[in-house]
Amino acid sequence: MAISLGEDSLCHCLEKLRMHELSLAVEILELVDRAAKDSAFLKVHALRLEVGQLSGVETAALRFALESLAPGSRIEGARIVIEEPKGMAWCAPCGKTVPLSMRGEPCPRCGGHDLQITGGQGFRVIDLEVSGG
Ligand SMILES: [Zn+2]
Repeated sequence: MAISLGEDSLCHCLEKLRMHELSLAVEILELVDRAAKDSAFLKVHALRLEVGQLSGVETAALRFALESLAPGSRIEGARIVIEEPKGMAWCAPCGKTVPLSMRGEPCPRCGGHDLQITGGQGFRVIDLEVSGG
């Protein structure tokens, strides 16, 4: 059974994105615990996360933090799948959407900084694969 926790599961505000990955992992586990109470499941088999390229979250560090916290928790033994949407930005001078691998980088076409980020900034739990209860 897969349950979706929705777009607003985790706050997208910059303050949270600058938090250390361990804090994010703790927040994810709290979210899982809350979902377990609401949906009455016992075990998580897979945890699917979206970590945008521009989200400011280090995926390797986040994975490590989750794996460190997993023993004894509901996500023990769960597969952790991290999707990493590419960073995208709208460049007004070019009139185009351009790829952006890091915040603060110039437009790869014109070298300008008049960019508005349009993709790859999200950080959220997409869904959980669960059983039991
Ligand atoms: Zn440009």
